This record gives sequence, structure tokens and C-alpha cells, in this order.
Amino acid sequence: MIAVSLQEGTIVLDPFSVRMVLGLVILTLIVISCVSSQRRRSPYAEWWRVALCLFLAGNAAFLLNGTDFQPWANPLGKALVVAGTFCIWAGARTLRDHRVHPWFLAAASIPGFVASVVDDPGNSVWSGGLVYLGLTTLGLTLAGLELWFAKPVRSRITRFLSIIAGLTALYYLFRAISFVLDGPTSQVFQTFFGFAPAALMHLILLVAVSSTMNTLSNKQLIKRLRERADRDHLTGLLNRGAFLELASRSLAESSPRGAALILADLDNFKAVNDEHGHAAGDAALRAFAAACTSSVRSTDIVARYGGEEFVLLLPGATQQRAEAIASEISGRLAATKGPDGLPFPTVSYGVTSTGADVQDLAFMINVADAALYSAKAQGRNRVVGADPADVESAAEASRPPS
Ligand code: GH3
Ligand code: MG
Ligand code: MG
Repeated sequence: MIAVSLQEGTIVLDPFSVRMVLGLVILTLIVISCVSSQRRRSPYAEWWRVALCLFLAGNAAFLLNGTDFQPWANPLGKALVVAGTFCIWAGARTLRDHRVHPWFLAAASIPGFVASVVDDPGNSVWSGGLVYLGLTTLGLTLAGLELWFAKPVRSRITRFLSIIAGLTALYYLFRAISFVLDGPTSQVFQTFFGFAPAALMHLILLVAVSSTMNTLSNKQLIKRLRERADRDHLTGLLNRGAFLELASRSLAESSPRGAALILADLDNFKAVNDEHGHAAGDAALRAFAAACTSSVRSTDIVARYGGEEFVLLLPGATQQRAEAIASEISGRLAATKGPDGLPFPTVSYGVTSTGADVQDLAFMINVADAALYSAKAQGRNRVVGADPADVESAAEASRPPS
């Protein structure tokens, strides 16, 4: 039951009762989020749950205002609420795959705690108020911005949440301004920015975020699962299926500039496994993948084609450039030492390229495969470029008769 009193014609909500209601609502939201969460939890949902717990604890600490516990409970409450606000920001950051270290949250809330402790918290519930309001405004503003730019999980929901976080930040900004200009005991501050109206503002924020949490956290989980399905578990490179999809798209888009394709196969790899064990073989595969990714540009597509075979599509690269990159990869691998100082195996490459008259991907892979076969036949550990004349005749042969 919320106590409402009439003071000089103005309705004033009783802060204690409003806090009790806020606490119950937060508790309910926590229970709902625990009951409705899937076994696999998204980082966004995890951060939001931590934020709710911090708000609940902060709110409980503020309930001790006016008791003997106020001198420590009040600064603690402020620190917890600030940390909760930064948790909303941290959760929003996970939508862009950015991380926030938990220590950062502690660091963000310490100034609020210290400012309150040194400002006579036993006698003033607003001790260190400006620092508290400033930090909360900052946390909510950052959360709003992060949600606005929440690519690729951008949607109407993230925009809506961004606006809610932005409006709450604005409210906190006005709260801070009124705190400085009017003072926390003034009628204006009490009516619009006191504990009770602020608690109502919190209710709107909490219910808005909680009601959209499942949708957002599902989107995040689906995005992550898809990313995992596209990756080879051992090397972290794209797998064959994802490569074929991405490379065909890239080839179609890069048609005016052409592209080059490298097919690579580790030499006598079976012997590595046989002589040094499967773990040494795995280490060689990982080292080769690392050598590939450090030798190409971010727009190039690198994948594990299967077993100890790898494929690279280099949009816009010439034949010469692609052959140079293949040699560079081998150079890097040779410079890397394996477990127990074992040298990694050598590598054979088949390289092909296409000009503006882009051939299809399957054809390029076939040509590179023929060149790779030739590299093996010539004694391995070398780069063989597909002869343009051979490519031409292979293309002729592969064309259906008209
Ligand atoms: P070549 O020079 O002619 O390519 O000979 P090779 O021994 O490299 O080729 P082969 O096809 O005979 O052997 C490939 C080996 O790669 C056999 C297989 O056990 C091994 N292999 C495939 N995938 C993995 C893997 O994920 N980890 C490890 N350690 N070995 C793998
Ligand atoms: Mg091999
Ligand atoms: Mg092979």
C-alpha cells in the first residue's frame, strides 16, 4: 500500500512505501528472469540479472535510511545502484561483442561510495549526491549510446531501449542540475527528483528492459550459435560450408577487380600424426591457420577446407600477389616452432586467379586443385600457379556443349 500525503495542495508519495514496491517489483523481475531463462544463457541476460540484483540490494540499503545503519548503508546503496547502472551498459556492450571487465564496475562505483562516506552520510541521505547522480547519468548515457549502435543485433527493440535509457539519463541529468541549483531539500527537487519520483522512473526502466530481455537474449544466442556453426572448432577458421557461401558472394561482388584463390595442403601430414602423435598434428594445423590469418587482409576469406587442406580467397588480388602470399605463409610457418621444438611440416599450394570475367567458385577451386596436385607431383613444399593456357583449356572443357 503506497502512502500518499497532501502537502500544500501537492501529492507527495511516501518514499519508504515506494521503495518497498520497487524492491518487490525488482524481486519479481529477478524470479521471472530465472524461471524463464533457457539452459544456455546469453551474456546480455547475465548482465541484466546482475544489474537487477544490484538494484535490489541498493534499494534495500536505502530502506535503512533513518535508522542507525544509515552511515554505512546509504553510501553502500549509492555504490550498488551506480554499479547496477554500469551493468546495463556492460550488457548493452555484449550486443556488439564488446566486453567489460567486472573490476571496471567496482572502479566506477567507488567514487560514489567515497564521496558519500566523506560527506556525513549519517546525517544526510544526499551525502555525495552530485557524484552519485553524475555517475548514474554517465552509466545510463553510455548504455543508451551502446544500445543505439548495437550492431548487428540492431532492431526496433534496441532502439526503444536506447530511448528509454537516454530518457532516464536525461532525467538524472536534470536531477543533478536541480540538486545543485535548488538543493535536495527544496520543494522542486522533492516533487520531481526526490526518491519517490525517481523510484517510479526506475520502475519504467526496469519493466522496459525486463520485458524485452528474452527477445534480445535469444537474438544474441542465435547469432552466437550461427557464428559457431560457421567455424572450424580446431583452428577457429571458417569451415567449408561457410567458405563456399561467403566466397561465392564475395566473388560476385568483386567482379570488376577479379580475385585469386589459394588451395593449400600440408605435406606428408599423416607422418606427423604417426611419428609425433595427433596432438602435434593439431598444433601444426593451428599454427598454419595462424600463419594464414596473419598473412592476409581482413577482407580475404580463409577457411579449413577439410582435414589438412585450407583455402583462401583474396578478392582484388593478382596471381603474382597470391603466389607471394602463399610463400609468405610458408615463411611464417617455418619460423614458428612446434611443441617440443619440432619443426612444422612444409606446405604445397595451388594458386589461381581470375580477372574481370569472373569464373565461378567451383571452377576456380578445380583449377587450384589441379595446380596443387602438380605441386605435390613436383616434390611438394612449393607454390604452383595454374598456367593461364591450362586454365583456358580447362574452362573450355568444363563448358557444356552449345
Ligand atoms: P600429402 O603430402 O600427399 O598431402 O600427404 P599427407 O600425409 O599430408 O596426406 P594424407 O591424405 O595421406 O593424410 C592426411 C592426414 O591428415 C590423415 C589424417 O589423419 C590427418 N588429419 C585430418 N584431419 C586432422 C585433424 O583434425 N587433426 C590431425 N591431427 N590430423 C588430421
Ligand atoms: Mg597433405
Ligand atoms: Mg590432403
